[in-house]
Amino acid sequence: MSLEKKVRVRFAPSPTGGLHLGGVRTALFNYLFAKHHDGDFILRIEDTDQTRFVAGAEAYINECLAWCGIAPDESPEKPGAVGPYRQSERKPSYRQYAEQLIQSGHAYYAFDTAEELDEQRKLQPNFRYSHENRMSLRNSLSLDEAEVSKLLAEGHPHTIRIKMPEEGTVSFEDMIRERVVFETKLIDDKVLLKADGMPTYHLAVVVDDKAMEISHVFRGEEWLPSAPVHILLWEYLGWKQEMPQWAHLPLILKPDGNGKLSKRDGDRLGFPVYAMNWTDPTSGDTTVGFREKGFLPEAFVNMLAMLGWNDGTEEEFFTLNQLIEKFSVDRISKAGAKFDFEKAKWFNREWIQRTPNEELVPKIAALLVEKGIQAAVEKINTLLALVKDRMTFIADFWEHASYFFQAPESLDSAAVKPKWTAEKTTFFEKIITVFEAQDEWAASNIETLFKDKIAQSGLKVGELMLPLRIMLVGGKFGPDVFVIAETLGKEQVVQRIKNGLRIIQD
Ligand code: GLU
Repeated sequence: MSLEKKVRVRFAPSPTGGLHLGGVRTALFNYLFAKHHDGDFILRIEDTDQTRFVAGAEAYINECLAWCGIAPDESPEKPGAVGPYRQSERKPSYRQYAEQLIQSGHAYYAFDTAEELDEQRKLQPNFRYSHENRMSLRNSLSLDEAEVSKLLAEGHPHTIRIKMPEEGTVSFEDMIRERVVFETKLIDDKVLLKADGMPTYHLAVVVDDKAMEISHVFRGEEWLPSAPVHILLWEYLGWKQEMPQWAHLPLILKPDGNGKLSKRDGDRLGFPVYAMNWTDPTSGDTTVGFREKGFLPEAFVNMLAMLGWNDGTEEEFFTLNQLIEKFSVDRISKAGAKFDFEKAKWFNREWIQRTPNEELVPKIAALLVEKGIQAAVEKINTLLALVKDRMTFIADFWEHASYFFQAPESLDSAAVKPKWTAEKTTFFEKIITVFEAQDEWAASNIETLFKDKIAQSGLKVGELMLPLRIMLVGGKFGPDVFVIAETLGKEQVVQRIKNGLRIIQD
């Protein structure tokens, strides 16, 4: 891999909808490579296909990158010297290159209408516009010069297509796949400039990578079949010396390894595939994203980095800065990476456990505000210490700590009713009085009082701990019951025991 030029990489999404985790991984690998080499990470919006354009998708992409902490150095929002950064705004710049290719004999005008091509497709299901049939179609290679000039002068709609060589191969060194070879005769004559004057992806990507001085291209493996077309364009346009180095990233596979992970797999198997919630502007349907599912951006980024990369050790836990430091193309695998949601959750759990409480507190405060609760930082801190180790997601805080904010809605009285006795009622009535008289309200005092009283009653500790827990939290869960009692405060504890006694005896 040569690094003579300044490293400049680009993430070039099409604004067509929610951002798939594979897309974010492409952005991340570009970013890591750039930052590892003190280079630039550029965001370019590839919106030349106006039929697939979706309002809001570009803003969504910006927000995803910001959420992941991988901010572009140059983008439509933050233009550098080589803008515009949206292809639609670069429209006037492309035709000259398509015309240049016609002049040099590497491209041609095609006058076939959409209907004519549809007709061909009906006749031949595997129809491809290529060296095999181009001479029987309506283009500047098959028609005579006078007719072509006439059609052009009359302004007949036309596209410009690349003329793929009938013979020969295109080969290149992929940074991940090493030597890759394609036979050009197997590739169709791709449209470069559409009838509306917009370039297709193939022309735009080459012209823009050149204009933006891109040094390395990291993109998904699904673009590998397009690489020979791009390489020929670099060559035909006379830019071969400046061509970027290519790296086609391994696919992210379905959990069972059978094919590429799609949004539908997420819907089917119940996990997110998009980075953040995406609401389709036409249908209004919302697809849940990793962010809203409760992933910390640090965990999401860490998990993505491990889909197809490792640092050569068993280590799996990395901060973004560590990833920048350790990232190396040599350690990107060729094989597809299976997506495992349980593993993704493991990353989030690990990140929650390792994140200092003061960073989690604001996130939990926000969760509580959603529930209509304003909680003091001190209280959240105390509760976090009790339930953090049970949390995989921030939202789990509520499941494990809601009873500290509101009395349980229902009690699992069935767990204690069958063995309930009058002695137990008497015991709890007495303990209420004992607690009410107690000033020092710490777990250890509460425990001593509770156990002393049991000793006097002739009952067993084991018989009374569970009822106490159920009265305080509603069920058989939670941390140490005396710590819960301390945290709830005396008044709440007394009130909940009174309430519990009523329900159990009902
Ligand atoms: N616009 C393409 C996409 O949506 C970019 C492919 C490339 O990086 O060349 O993924």
